[in-house]
Amino acid sequence: MTVRAYGAFSCDNPLEPMIIERRQPGAHDVEIDIAFCGVCHSDLHTVRSEWAGTLYPCVPGHEIIGSVRSVGDAVTRYRVGDVVGVGCMVDSCRRCASCEEGLEQYCQHGFTLTYNSPCADKPGHTLGGYAQKIVVDENFVLKIRHPKEQLAAVAPLLCAGVTTYSPLRHWQAGPGKKIGIVGLGGLGHMGVKLAHAMGAHTVAFTTSDSKRADALRLGADEAVVSSKADEMQKHANSFDLILDTAGASHNLDAYTALLKRDGVLCLVGLPGTPHPSPEVGPLIFGRRSIAGSLIGGIAETQEMLDFCAEKGIVSEIERMPARMIDSAYDRMERGDVKYRFVIDIASLEP
Ligand code: NAP
Ligand code: ZN
Ligand code: ZN
Repeated sequence: MTVRAYGAFSCDNPLEPMIIERRQPGAHDVEIDIAFCGVCHSDLHTVRSEWAGTLYPCVPGHEIIGSVRSVGDAVTRYRVGDVVGVGCMVDSCRRCASCEEGLEQYCQHGFTLTYNSPCADKPGHTLGGYAQKIVVDENFVLKIRHPKEQLAAVAPLLCAGVTTYSPLRHWQAGPGKKIGIVGLGGLGHMGVKLAHAMGAHTVAFTTSDSKRADALRLGADEAVVSSKADEMQKHANSFDLILDTAGASHNLDAYTALLKRDGVLCLVGLPGTPHPSPEVGPLIFGRRSIAGSLIGGIAETQEMLDFCAEKGIVSEIERMPARMIDSAYDRMERGDVKYRFVIDIASLEP
């Protein structure tokens, strides 16, 4: 079946309306009418070929909320009309040790990303959620339990939410822990909300003085403007975990110096150009680590969605029609987003 979408034919063209093909739902598939799709900085990195390997035409989007239009004969978990989500993955090998542990994002044979992964469907690679419909195996579909009026603001949980939730859980954010979140963008503002909800003492680091008040409103106990050396110095040797969501390369030493002994700087931001090589001294003298973390598995994504539904957590969003995507990307590049753009997919109608 053909559906309307928004995507790019090359890295130096703006996104434009296009018609794409979706497979007919197979026995295990769920056909989803998409209502909302969040705009992640990864979409921008991919469409503009800031990372290697973008396949064109490129239709990004991996923060998808919609309702079930039809289900295949073997589908047991979803029914027509259910409100569902799709995040960053639509398949994995399902057999390797990582998949068996529910860590499909670390699949040893390679997972299938929601967009830009090779697949059997036309045009030979996956196309994401800036589109009217998507067809996904039920094992990669999530249940949404938030109230209907919050659905646009739930979309960003599917990537920004789980990408911050997973490392916060892995490194046991909670009461008695001091957690830093670097970068108050899509991921970072969710990191602040989630670390706060988990009961940790939460400190937001921003390059934007203007976001200081917001950081506190979103749940941070303290906000630090990272260019101010005296403010940074006050936090030396004090963090259990700092989650770095910055989408641009920057000096990591400023943050490793703030970790306690055995503290961890976990990188989730993946800039198009590498960070300057960090000093090893502060790592050795203090047994500190620099780590990384990739999205979250399907079971953990469901756990995060349920946690957020129970606590009333959603993203702070700016809704926009699809034709505004390029200007949204430009604003995101400038750090001018509060705090996630979400595309109203109804705007794809002619
Ligand atoms: P975003 O909304 O653009 O937010 C990034 C924030 O980083 C900006 O708002 C800004 O916040 C801060 N920042 C920008 N330049 C900076 C610099 N030079 N130094 C320090 N901070 C800077 O982006 P996003 O959607 O949250 O994504 C962030 C990054 O995570 C991207 O690289 C994306 O590809 C990656 N990502 C990774 C995963 C994963 O699984 N690991 C998943 C999704 C996304 P302030 O104004 O507060 O400084
Ligand atoms: Zn993302
Ligand atoms: Zn696997």
